[in-house]
Amino acid sequence: MGSSNIRVRFAPSPTGPLHIGGVRTALYNYLFAKKNNGTFILRIEDTDQTRFVPGAEQYIIESLNWLGIPFDEGVETGGDYGPYRQSERKNMYAQYAYQLIDNGLAYYAFDTPEELDAMRERLKAANMPPKYDAASRMSMKNSLTLPEDEVKERLERGDDFVIRIKLPRNEEVRFEDIIRGWVVFNTSQLDDKVLLKGDGMPTYHLANIVDDHLMKISHVIRGEEWLPSAPLHVMLYKFFGWDMPQFAHLPLILKPDGNGKLSKRDGDRLGFPVFPIDWEDPKTGEKSSGYREAGYLSDAVVNMLAFLGWHPSDNQELFHLEELVEAFSLERVSKSGAKFDQDKAKWFNHQFILRADNQDLKTLLASRLEDKHLAKGEQYLMDVIQMMKEKVSFAQDILSAGDFFFEVPEEYDEKVRNKKWNAEAASGLQGFAAYIEESKPSSSDDFDAALNTYATENEINKGKLMQPLRWAVSGQAGGPPIFDMLALLGIEEVVNRINLVCEKFATSN
Ligand code: GLU
Repeated sequence: MGSSNIRVRFAPSPTGPLHIGGVRTALYNYLFAKKNNGTFILRIEDTDQTRFVPGAEQYIIESLNWLGIPFDEGVETGGDYGPYRQSERKNMYAQYAYQLIDNGLAYYAFDTPEELDAMRERLKAANMPPKYDAASRMSMKNSLTLPEDEVKERLERGDDFVIRIKLPRNEEVRFEDIIRGWVVFNTSQLDDKVLLKGDGMPTYHLANIVDDHLMKISHVIRGEEWLPSAPLHVMLYKFFGWDMPQFAHLPLILKPDGNGKLSKRDGDRLGFPVFPIDWEDPKTGEKSSGYREAGYLSDAVVNMLAFLGWHPSDNQELFHLEELVEAFSLERVSKSGAKFDQDKAKWFNHQFILRADNQDLKTLLASRLEDKHLAKGEQYLMDVIQMMKEKVSFAQDILSAGDFFFEVPEEYDEKVRNKKWNAEAASGLQGFAAYIEESKPSSSDDFDAALNTYATENEINKGKLMQPLRWAVSGQAGGPPIFDMLALLGIEEVVNRINLVCEKFATSN
């Protein structure tokens, strides 16, 4: 728990898997809280039971746990301002809607869905915005238009009703957003939103404002998609006579081409995950891939997300979570959308793989290890990890790109074969094979010296042997430093593989 009065919340609705945009919102809230010795709260906004998806709340918690973003208060964690699930607070909200009615700042509305449709059609036909607002409400069925005793009668009879906010007709609403500066709306752009629904449940707007107030939230940090709701929220604070938190609306995360918001559908369509961890829709069985299962390290995902909308004051790019806490400020969050960049995401992962502890990488690979990977013992596997981590973007590629360390290559690069494989190379490699069987090099330096000596003694250009040699033992055109590779494979295996290519690819010239 923080020692300052800074209190922020991440307030997802459990309507499906958490999109990386949501994860970034959680991350920025966390960074801001920690930077300011504040408190970070997880509140689950599940008042809309029609959109509730089983497993979604668990998914959110598991994702943030994986990323190492802990909560000070919230569902599961607890705290002094609970419960932290809105469905468990549902009896707290109605009184606030009635308070506004008592003060003439909200009203009962009895319109049926048909009547609402008819109103919208009428306004559209007249080229007016189809809104329930200061202009249209006087022609609708509500406690502003019906006689007082009819309203009473309807309420006593138990007619369906909702409670709507009564916004003034033409009033400027302004607030200073930490990221966007002054934001100005006019109430004529808004409508009289429903605050309390027919079933007695609050809408998002009412529950959100009441909870932010009761939970003493000091800063509301959330996605830009909530900016249009902000003036309504500002009006609600005003109507309740409550101090308003400060707002910070984060920029959108855009598709790689910059054309529109990165949506839940984009990920698997464009070939990269848009969710932190794998998700299977409990109703449709539809699967969406996550960063964790795709082989991303949590630190890399955190670093990559931090940079989608924020950058530090210097050129440093690699940050661990604690360093982000140090460097972060809302003032350095940009207003404009941040384009998702898959190559950059991979680059971050590569950087963190390079820096990762080999034992941790081995743990990460545990579920993918087959007998062949363990056949040569623990140290051999660790050496492969050390050598291959320089070359890969994802941990699992250590095993696939480094497969030749565990068995003879299945394929041999065609280009190298066509360009570099000829009778001269074949006899050169065979000579080298015989030479190392005699001279028994062991370390990487030994192999280097062996090739030097062999080449010099036989007046062969060493450079001409290097690529065929790499190709013969690995099947590949590139890879880790060649003498390190040879030393790890060992004399016997190197000789075998040289013999193998000589048999397999007989040379005529
Ligand atoms: N429940 C909203 C969401 O799903 C919260 C928005 C807010 O932070 O006010 O994003």
